[in-house]
Amino acid sequence: MPYGVGVFSISQSLHAYTLSMPTQSNTESKTGIVIFDHPLIAHKLATIRNQETGHRLFRAALSQIAGLMVYEVTRSLPTEKIDVQTPVTKAQCQIIKGTITIVPVLRAGLGMIDGILEVMPEARVGHLGLARDEQTLEPHAYLNKLPADIDAGPVILVDPMLATGGSASAALTMLRQAGATDIRMICLVAAPEGIARLQADHPSVTIYAAALDEKLNEKGYIVPGLGDAGDRMYGTV
Ligand code: URA
Repeated sequence: MPYGVGVFSISQSLHAYTLSMPTQSNTESKTGIVIFDHPLIAHKLATIRNQETGHRLFRAALSQIAGLMVYEVTRSLPTEKIDVQTPVTKAQCQIIKGTITIVPVLRAGLGMIDGILEVMPEARVGHLGLARDEQTLEPHAYLNKLPADIDAGPVILVDPMLATGGSASAALTMLRQAGATDIRMICLVAAPEGIARLQADHPSVTIYAAALDEKLNEKGYIVPGLGDAGDRMYGTV
């Protein structure tokens, strides 16, 4: 099977569904949330949620899910036509327009990067580090390392747990301040509270989540969730 056909059939079978997709005036991009409904992703998510899963398997499954999600997340990326000389004749082909930048939020976002880069090895990787200020309880940035020309292409923010949405919202604000205009977000598990916060603060950003969970508990953990993603990923539980 030709490579392109394989990619097409995988992305068609993801069956991502959309909870709300109000269109912007710019009809090329849509806003809302896309939740994946795919047996392979669901299967790997079950592994990740299981408290018996150790950090090695947790990391591997998280990275694989991120790679699988990329097919759907990149579906709406802008493309441009180019002519390619094949051994037979000239072919009109399409390539992704601009340079993609992936931005993990430290530390848990790092766990999704390898899986994404396996599919898009040419992407650049910026880093945002956010910690909660114990006095104000607001996220504050301790690391901001982004390409100067971040708007040279689409930007994909990566953070596995969308809980209250506080740090994701702060990260999106930092991306906007750096000049990013075309932004998507990938997370593994989202809580309704986090989605509501992002849709209020950053309505133009489409959120892609492998699962939409029930709620947050009194400690801010997602229920049923998977616990602390960073700790589980790095064995620091
Ligand atoms: N961050 C996590 O790692 N897990 C949660 O459940 C919520 C936030």
